[in-house]
Amino acid sequence: MYSEIRDFLKAHNVKLIAVSKTRSVAQIMHLYDQGQRAFGENRVQELMEKQPQLPGDIEWHLIGHLQKNKVKYIAPFIHLIHSADDLELIQTIQKEAYKNDRTIRILLQFHIADEQTKFGLAESDIETIMAARETGQLPNILFCGVMGMATLTDDKDKIRSEFRHLKTIFENLKSRYFCDDVHFREISMGMSGDYEIAMEEGATMVRLGTVLF
Ligand SMILES: *Cc1c(COP(=O)(O)O)cnc(C)c1O
Repeated sequence: MYSEIRDFLKAHNVKLIAVSKTRSVAQIMHLYDQGQRAFGENRVQELMEKQPQLPGDIEWHLIGHLQKNKVKYIAPFIHLIHSADDLELIQTIQKEAYKNDRTIRILLQFHIADEQTKFGLAESDIETIMAARETGQLPNILFCGVMGMATLTDDKDKIRSEFRHLKTIFENLKSRYFCDDVHFREISMGMSGDYEIAMEEGATMVRLGTVLF
């Protein structure tokens, strides 16, 4: 199953993040041995337990809600934080990136689903974050795009319209703030149940767990 999906995504130029939460080191190595290098975890503690046991050339992606007091643990090595959903969190990432003499790549996570429980920014939060960026307060942050999760539902039209909404947010941000910035280019959307719709709506990265392992 892994290699079929990998080849399908590759043919469509979409990056695969293998979501390894709850999976063992052996299960992760099974995909690693088939060439997978990008893995995603949603909990810092679990990531910190696994990361030292696995090869150093793995690209670790943090995909779940991130608490400010946990940023320091992942700052030395994290490849991309998909879940930047608050200015104070981004400021904390800035501080820890600076301490580690690194630039940390982030995606702005937007709330596109119906559900109250899902984290994410509203479009009205954009201006404050961009003001912090444009006044030079976030020099160690590299803005790489957006992330979102659709409502958990069987209604494909609803899922599609939520992904389409995220794409629109991305395009607005791109044209207003990042038109000359080659790094701002990623749309992380799509999980095992909805990644085909996400791809049709412009995903550049999908986060797949269940369907791979
Ligand atoms: C668990 C998780 C995924 C992967 O979900 P699957 O349905 O197992 O593919 C993707 N994104 C986030 C943020 C997750 O927490």
